[in-house]
Amino acid sequence: MMTPPDLYCVIGNPVEHSRSPAIHTQFAALTGQHLSYERRLVALDDFGPAIRQWRAQGGKGCNITVPFKVEAAQIADLRSARVVLAGAANTLIWQSDGSLLADNTDGLGLVADITRNAGIELAGRDIVLIGAGGAGAGVLGPLLQTRPRRITVTNRTPERARQLVDSHQALAAQENVTLNCEDIHALSGNFDIVINATASSLTGGGIPVPASILRPGCLAYDMMYGPAAQPFLNWATEHGAQARDGLGMLVEQAAEAFALWRGIRPPSGQVLAQLHATLYPSACVPG
Ligand code: NAP
Repeated sequence: MMTPPDLYCVIGNPVEHSRSPAIHTQFAALTGQHLSYERRLVALDDFGPAIRQWRAQGGKGCNITVPFKVEAAQIADLRSARVVLAGAANTLIWQSDGSLLADNTDGLGLVADITRNAGIELAGRDIVLIGAGGAGAGVLGPLLQTRPRRITVTNRTPERARQLVDSHQALAAQENVTLNCEDIHALSGNFDIVINATASSLTGGGIPVPASILRPGCLAYDMMYGPAAQPFLNWATEHGAQARDGLGMLVEQAAEAFALWRGIRPPSGQVLAQLHATLYPSACVPG
């Protein structure tokens, strides 16, 4: 008799839009892993009980999305160094002794998409990170570890950018990176890499920064993907930047989570190409 599949899920609110089930199901098929992956909509005040229930049902792990990433970091018994730094987790794993480990793969996914999929070097570059919410917090540590020359963090609410910079200053010194924050309305100079980690594309809030920060030929990256990212991508292209959306980050952060759970690295490039073709049928394969 066939053994039942190992159980995984993504927990969020809302969660019906999540592409994680399709991505992980494809990873499992391509690597011969016997698992099932579902969506779980959880009420805003019910995260802790929902996690315990998932474990009681046999869950081996789960991904966490908006708005539970901070709670996921707090509920865990063990936290990776990335989670300690970010204060947020997107991947939970039950260990063989029953303890719950939290990790955060968002930053690894972003860095893999920029450096490996897009073939753009981050070392020695000038980066501006726009946004200091969960996504911004999750990517700052891994970005620092690529040893750019400078990272400027800016955010609509300046205090959050300041806190993020303060909590990462020791890592920046260790990696020999200049890390500072600037007022989003008074950004000075321009950058090689512009990363939009705000929810402005998601909410139709417009472009949060002036075009003057785009260095000619720079990479302008929106963590959003699909039609909602199009205004940012159009703006970037019109101003001479190379535009890229967050679809590759989505697939790469999922691949990192899959590797943590299963000990095997899925062919993320193949899955990204397929997802890209589904989402953008008339476009070329992402470079
Ligand atoms: P979050 O924790 O709710 O933070 C939202 C951030 O966006 C805050 O910095 C907020 O500034 C800023 N913001 C919201 N509306 C804005 C506007 N109209 N103008 C300027 N800033 C605005 O959300 P999150 O988890 O960080 O997610 C941010 C984005 O990243 C979302 O679009 C999400 O879909 C995307 N994301 C993508 C991936 C991927 O794999 N591709 C992974 C994670 C997240 P305040 O601090 O002033 O409120």
